Amino acid sequence: MRIDVISLFPEFVAQCAAFGVVGRAGERGLLSLHGWNPRDYAEGNYRRVDDRPFGGGPGMVMLIEPLRASLRAARDADPAPAKVIYLSPQGAPLTQAKVRELAGRERLILLCGRYEGVDERLIQAEVDEEISIGDYVLSGGELAAAVVVDAVARLREGVLNDAESAVQDSFEDGLLDCPHYTRPVEHELGPVPGVLMSGNHAQIARWRRMQALGRTWQRRPDLLDEATLSKADRKLLAE
Ligand code: SAM
Repeated sequence: MRIDVISLFPEFVAQCAAFGVVGRAGERGLLSLHGWNPRDYAEGNYRRVDDRPFGGGPGMVMLIEPLRASLRAARDADPAPAKVIYLSPQGAPLTQAKVRELAGRERLILLCGRYEGVDERLIQAEVDEEISIGDYVLSGGELAAAVVVDAVARLREGVLNDAESAVQDSFEDGLLDCPHYTRPVEHELGPVPGVLMSGNHAQIARWRRMQALGRTWQRRPDLLDEATLSKADRKLLAE
């Protein structure tokens, strides 16, 4: 998979993607990340990438042309069609379902804003989708882009080892994940739940499902409205 990042600080996103499983994806050739800096495409001695907003008010707005030229360069670098995503607090909230959809694509171009954001005309003309990583405002889109890169890359085939398989993670089946334990069995902070030591796989699966359902009900009851629950799940919830 190829992801191009258009940003005034492309190295920042590259650094975020240099560690752990995502870093390994890069090393294995499963992810190639490319940065494009609009300043390299800006004109004049000062290589301006922003200007004052029409209508007045505080802050600056990112200019159309350096961004458009960066987008063009990113598109021209690879003939495969790319989806252009603008990271924006006004976008659709990022969900695991959206991450999975994006992970099914071969190319993404992530556009990171700074200042007050990007000239609206560029968004209208060039952006396929706006994505937000939450209802708060960051000073730039780079952290949001790094979140997308990380969440998407770990779902690409071959990136996670079996032991780290994503299928049991929170949100994958609409629920939160169950709690996890490792050695030692006995510790001053408490014992490991006995069922996990029983070797009875059916009992363990039932316990985990019950924990996932209970946690979701306690912490994120909104998810239960959307999750597809089996008859057995409903029985467990009623217990
Ligand atoms: N004036 C904009 C607004 O209120 O919608 C906020 C601009 S913000 C200071 C600068 C840039 O940070 C945005 O252009 C966007 O790329 C990024 N950004 C900020 N918050 C974000 C969020 N929650 N999700 C994704 N990107 C965000």
